[in-house]
Amino acid sequence: MDYATGLRCVNCGATYPLGPMFEGCPACRERDFVANLAVDYDYAAIAASLRLGELAQRPAGLWRYRELLPVGETAQRLSMGEGQTPLVWCQRLGKEVGLRRLYAKNEATNPTGSFKDRLCCLAVAHAWESGAQVVTAASTGNHGASLAAYAARAGLRSVIFALANIPPPMLTLMQVYGAAVVAVDSKEGRWMLMEQAVKGYRWYPAGTYLQPPVGNPYGVEGYKTIAYEICEQLGWQAPDLVFVPVGHGDGLSGVWKGFKEFQRLGFTSSKPAMVSVEALGALANAVAKGLPRVEPVSARPTVAFSIGSTLASHQALLALREPGGRAVTVSDEEIMEAQKALANLEGLYAEPSSAAAVAGLMKLARKGGMDPDSIVVCLLTSGGLKDPGASRAYLPPAPTARIENAAAAQRWLERFMEQWQ
Ligand SMILES: *Cc1c(COP(=O)(O)O)cnc(C)c1O
Ligand SMILES: [Zn+2]
Repeated sequence: MDYATGLRCVNCGATYPLGPMFEGCPACRERDFVANLAVDYDYAAIAASLRLGELAQRPAGLWRYRELLPVGETAQRLSMGEGQTPLVWCQRLGKEVGLRRLYAKNEATNPTGSFKDRLCCLAVAHAWESGAQVVTAASTGNHGASLAAYAARAGLRSVIFALANIPPPMLTLMQVYGAAVVAVDSKEGRWMLMEQAVKGYRWYPAGTYLQPPVGNPYGVEGYKTIAYEICEQLGWQAPDLVFVPVGHGDGLSGVWKGFKEFQRLGFTSSKPAMVSVEALGALANAVAKGLPRVEPVSARPTVAFSIGSTLASHQALLALREPGGRAVTVSDEEIMEAQKALANLEGLYAEPSSAAAVAGLMKLARKGGMDPDSIVVCLLTSGGLKDPGASRAYLPPAPTARIENAAAAQRWLERFMEQWQ
């Protein structure tokens, strides 16, 4: 049985039937503003048929939450072990920042190594169900890599519009999964190509091709499962504070929707406050100035290339306007310090864009005022091996050792022990 009932505008509340609507709400659109559409469900019917005890018995993965996801049974066969990522207690890092109950939700264990697998699993399942032959996205990173993999698995073709400065590991990932990758000379050019391909050739857009970004409403639903899993991993309880690295804010919005739904269904008794952590700070600017809408901020290079966007979606801003919501901006230095702390203290190596969540936490912790007993989760969106060059820049070369015999080995170790702190 399908419980998804339609799409609803997060701004004006207009409703639409489920269908290929990828350009946000037409009813309240203006020249510089588009509001997201979000999937609506018959929550009363879900509450009547879905029991917590039964849910807990189902196999792990995204589809165990099938009543709360917008594709049918056959499309739900698309899976390669995404989700069910570990919630890791960070005792040592927690001590540094004064928190007893700090956790990292490690999304690097997803099939292509990032939380984009939740988005792409849903988007490609929906594309397949809609009869699409080709899926497309504008991406220089995890989104494109994940889309290519899920398209391969679903038997669809994929075209990724990247930029010329696409990091080599990302290009390799996309191509090895069989995507046609095009290096476009401008961000706007990528979106223009994508828009025409979507309209003229009926390619399925797994992400946005508009500014302001509206995302793919079906894909964003995949991110809700992060919130569901966190609640279950905490013993059917919501955390108090969740730090999410934000580019366009699809991840943050999806996670927030998941927490809201679990409370609405009575599976949890509270909701956390959401904290967006950005490199450029479009949401932080809107929150600080009390703007009704997110405005673009100026571009600058950032080590966190996966979140280097100048504008975020309206629904992300709405999530931050809820009780306790906050927006933090972090610098490259703060991000690399957080990457190092996380790796050195917890053995977790996060891509800079992902370590940004921890950088945001460290920044807020320094300002003080965090309850040491609150339950705090940092969402680690991707692993460090996606961009090892960023860490190489602050790491020393390995010392060399030339050992001809046992005496040389002993001399070398003695010298090493004198210098090694
Ligand atoms: C895409 C991405 C993000 C940001 O996701 P949005 O939905 O655009 O906010 C954060 N971290 C990593 C590693 C990503 O790839
Ligand atoms: Zn609207």
